[in-house]
Amino acid sequence: MNLFTFTSHFGDEQTCKDHFKQQRDQQGVVCKKCGCTDHYWKKDKSSYECKSCGFRTSLKSGTIMQHSNLPFLVWYRAIFLMSTTKKGFSAKEMQRQLGLKRYEPVWSMVHKIRKAMGNRDAKYTLEGMIEMDEGYFTIESTEVEKSKNKAGKGAVGKTNVAVMAESTPLEQEK
Ligand SMILES: [Zn+2]
Repeated sequence: MNLFTFTSHFGDEQTCKDHFKQQRDQQGVVCKKCGCTDHYWKKDKSSYECKSCGFRTSLKSGTIMQHSNLPFLVWYRAIFLMSTTKKGFSAKEMQRQLGLKRYEPVWSMVHKIRKAMGNRDAKYTLEGMIEMDEGYFTIESTEVEKSKNKAGKGAVGKTNVAVMAESTPLEQEK
C-alpha cells in the first residue's frame, strides 16, 4: 500500500472507524462482566452493549487505542506512516506530520504502535496490520477467558491478545 492507495482507502474518520469496527466484529466482542458474546451495537455511543447484562464496551476499549482521544483517522495515518518508514518515526516528527497541537497524546500513540510493531514481524505492512491481521487491533482477554486459560492450554495460543495488553502500561513511561 502506498500513500495514494492509503488515502483513497482511509480518507476520513468515518471510514477508519467503520473499518475498525469491522475488525472487531470479526473477532467478536466478549463482555468483560459476564463473558457473553452477543452484543447490540449502539451507534450513538460508539459502544457495544451486552445482550445479557447491558454492560457497555466502547469500540476502542481493550485495543491499542484504548484511553486515546485521538481520532481513528489519526491512528490509521500514524500506523501507515510508521509501517512504511524503515527508520523509526520520532513522536515529534509524527506530531509535525499529523499537524497536531498536543505532543502528549501523539507521544503515547507512537510508543504504543512501536511496541506493538516491535512485538511482531518487522516486515509487517499496513495491509498486514490493518487489513489482514485482525490481531493487530486485538482485544484484551476478559476475566472469563483468563480463567479458562489457566485451566486449559489456551494461554500459549493467545499471543496476539498479549500484544495489546502489554502496550497499556506504556502511558506511565517517560
Ligand atoms: Zn454482559
